Amino acid sequence: GVPTCECNTCYAGADCSQLLPDCPADADSGDPLFLEPYWQQHAASSAVVFSGWHRMSYRTTGDYFISVELEKHIRLLHEAVGNAVTDGRFIVFGSGSTQLLNALVYALSPENASTPASVVATAPYYALYKLQTDLFDRREYEWKGVTSKWVNASVASMGNFIEFVTSPNNPDGRLLQSVLGGSSVIYDHAYYWPHFTAIPAPADEDVMIFTASKVTGHASSRFGWAVIKDEKVYQKATEYMQLNTMGVSRDTQLRVLKLVKVMLAEMRGEGGIFEFGHKTTRERWSKLSKVISSSNRFSLQQLSPLYCTYFKKIIDPSPAYAWLKCEMEGDVDCSAVLREAGIISRAGAVFEASSRYARLSLIKTQDDVDLLLQRMEALVSKEDVAS
Ligand code: PMP
Repeated sequence: GVPTCECNTCYAGADCSQLLPDCPADADSGDPLFLEPYWQQHAASSAVVFSGWHRMSYRTTGDYFISVELEKHIRLLHEAVGNAVTDGRFIVFGSGSTQLLNALVYALSPENASTPASVVATAPYYALYKLQTDLFDRREYEWKGVTSKWVNASVASMGNFIEFVTSPNNPDGRLLQSVLGGSSVIYDHAYYWPHFTAIPAPADEDVMIFTASKVTGHASSRFGWAVIKDEKVYQKATEYMQLNTMGVSRDTQLRVLKLVKVMLAEMRGEGGIFEFGHKTTRERWSKLSKVISSSNRFSLQQLSPLYCTYFKKIIDPSPAYAWLKCEMEGDVDCSAVLREAGIISRAGAVFEASSRYARLSLIKTQDDVDLLLQRMEALVSKEDVAS
């Protein structure tokens, strides 16, 4: 038999099939492994093989280290899904959308202003906006906290603002819009795909960010792209990429091209990735909602069915994350309450929200979600006994 020391920390037994009772359900990270079974079903058609001599040059087919073929296919993907307008727009690639966040803050910051641009986001927001802006803090821009602090400030006193708007939002899945008038806005559309939300209309903002991590599920490839209306902003973002990394790995670009080709070829058919992705996340959300509906101690964010132009019908919510609230007076640290019950979450404070909230990831593997549901069910059923 297999020695137990080779089992994953949560399993034991000769064949590692025995789940250890005190193993925590880890619902912390947004690792998009829910799409792994999809690519297992398309293993041969999505494989990429290239020999040692291939693509060794700094040069690519396109300007600025971008594969023309991949750029073309990304435009085709947006058109086929109907989630973003790319006609007449420029596209910049980044090593994950993570690299693009700062590239765009840089590109949108004024060059010769006396005060730095103020970078803000509406809470609860994705923590990296602040962490990265603080990390690269320089003359042109600084982190200025939550957007709501500035809503009533007079425009004259405000100067240059750069507002991050995440739609659908991470953590709570709401479709959001800019709230500061007159600011530059970076729309982070990482989750604006039918896996995670209805698509009411193609997004048409000046600066939009997308990532392979949340559409194909290949977080490992580190590939994101920005769709930019203004040529000067595009040129500055490109300059940033050139000075920073000289563009995204050509190996990654080849892999992503292959994945997008498979997605396009299978679109809307039996092997459609959005049909697969949406079904998976919708079922996970519906199961968790059912468990929480019989609880007085916990609640979930309210999401409504919406008309989706991709599916051409009203669809049920299918968010990437559950944004759980602890309702009881004593449960001030929701993440700690969950941890006590064997569930690892991401604390509300990470998103600059109240610690009464915690985020649970619904996009990891089925095993992760099954264990989470089991733990959540056990926790909620204890309420009945107590009351
Ligand atoms: N934006 C949002 C809103 C995210 O949730 C994430 C990752 N979880 C990212 C950007 C970064 O993703 P990546 O660098 O993998 O593209």
